[in-house]
Amino acid sequence: MSTTVDIIVPCYNEEPGLNLFYEETRKVLDTLPDYRFSFLFVNDGSRDGTLREMRRLAALHAEVHYLSFSRNFGKEAAMYAGLRNVSGDLVIIMDADLQHPPAMIPEMLQGIEEGYDCAAARRTSREGESRIRSFFSRAFYRLSNRLTDVTMAEGAVDFRVMTRRMVNAILELSEVERFSKGIFAWVGFETKWYPYENVERAVGTTKWSFMGLFRYAIGGITSFSIAPLRLVTGTGFVISLCAFIYILITLVQTLLFGITVPGYVTLLCAVLFLGGIIELSVGILGEYVAHIYLEAKDRPLYIIQEARLGRDREPKGGKV
Ligand code: UDP
Ligand code: MG
Repeated sequence: MSTTVDIIVPCYNEEPGLNLFYEETRKVLDTLPDYRFSFLFVNDGSRDGTLREMRRLAALHAEVHYLSFSRNFGKEAAMYAGLRNVSGDLVIIMDADLQHPPAMIPEMLQGIEEGYDCAAARRTSREGESRIRSFFSRAFYRLSNRLTDVTMAEGAVDFRVMTRRMVNAILELSEVERFSKGIFAWVGFETKWYPYENVERAVGTTKWSFMGLFRYAIGGITSFSIAPLRLVTGTGFVISLCAFIYILITLVQTLLFGITVPGYVTLLCAVLFLGGIIELSVGILGEYVAHIYLEAKDRPLYIIQEARLGRDREPKGGKV
């Protein structure tokens, strides 16, 4: 029996490129007769004709399935919905904009044949991306790898082939706020990396704003590490120590030389500095409280409005 492979494709406003994506990918898949491929497109509440395009593709090709959300829930939710609703031996996740070259699929499947549980693509160049964006991205990887106990490969993208057991492990993580880059690293297993040059989007535009990426990065770090909380404790400790030493010095000075004119600037600096530190600490605490809040509400990650899965299977909902 041939190995079954499910290709999960999160799509948000990808109408213009979806057909091209299907055709380009199909061309590559046709060179791999040992596998049985099917597609699962996840329409993440697109506002254009993406769903119409999916229905059309599904009507034309028996191996094309789709899920459609009731609104935009984000790429993380779309990927999770995909993972929950496939049952193949292997799972591929890739973007719909052809920035993840389908031509890499054969060599990545080769990696799985070699015994790896995951074959993942990694961008080596960041051509077509602004310098400031690359700088922040690099800073994020350095920071998060130091702070968290998972090591995320720099330039890793969500283009990967995974075995069933790795997918099952990912599905066991029950957090509502999902940071896939971290989750993939957290579950472990051997990953084989495939470097590639950045490809410009075929059509359409990126859905990421700079602020969006920034929030994503903060969320990522606070989902996987409590180091910032320790930092707050550490800072508090150091400041208290400094204050104590300063009090001693002032006390001795006062006893020896009597009361001098108090330092207005020193006072102002201390107040402002401490004010800043306190605000920052409350902010960091707040990030974690926000995580607890969102997890405690335990809302479904997505809501399915329409689906067409193989053999008329019922879609699985977004409750973790
Ligand atoms: N995407 C999604 N939901 C969103 C945003 C994006 O499903 O809310 C999909 C999008 O259709 C694409 C993939 O995620 O297939 C990557 O998005 P994009 O190309 O905008 O990101 P970039 O490649 O710039 O990182
Ligand atoms: Mg893209």
